[in-house]
Amino acid sequence: MRDDRTIRRCDAAFTQSVQQQSEQNMALCYQCGNCTAGCPVARASSTPVTQVMRLVQAGQREAALEADSIWLCASCETCTTRCPNDIDVARVMDVLRHMARRENHVAEKNIRDFWDAFLESVEKHGRVYEVGLMAAYVRKTGRFWTDADLAPAALGKGKLPLRPHPVTDKEAIRQIFRRYRERSA
Ligand code: SF4
Ligand code: SF4
Repeated sequence: MRDDRTIRRCDAAFTQSVQQQSEQNMALCYQCGNCTAGCPVARASSTPVTQVMRLVQAGQREAALEADSIWLCASCETCTTRCPNDIDVARVMDVLRHMARRENHVAEKNIRDFWDAFLESVEKHGRVYEVGLMAAYVRKTGRFWTDADLAPAALGKGKLPLRPHPVTDKEAIRQIFRRYRERSA
């Protein structure tokens, strides 16, 4: 566990909230480390998934919500598959990411910006419009040359259409976003 973090008093309500939202029993985790052993982003993270589980058990709200791994998580579900206690670990990570977002703990700003750009594109067109997504991401982050070297190959294969191809019923998609905002307000 990172030693530059202050260990705070156990916030039992936080542990309870994660349990309720994820529908997982955190007490079942006995810290075997199987989830981290298979996690593809463990090496890139300063707080691997096993440690995140422990932070939640211990009610360390700030440290858990500030963990970089909840943003780096690729939702591959390897951790869930490997857990000997059948904990849906990926779901716990998902819940934490949503909580962190709502409470403005953003350990990896560029990833949050990419998500925002992706969702804006889906809300607008009903499906993602890659060129628009790239433009929005660059605008939010200022990372002008991110993956620019891949553009010629992608263009050559027709993977970057210059115009969006919206779905027929865009309004239905917008309603999904509206309902989400109403329920999470
Ligand atoms: S779902 Fe996330 S935490 Fe679990 S193994 Fe995949 S990347 Fe790691
Ligand atoms: S694999 Fe399951 S029991 Fe083992 S550390 Fe991860 S969450 Fe806990």
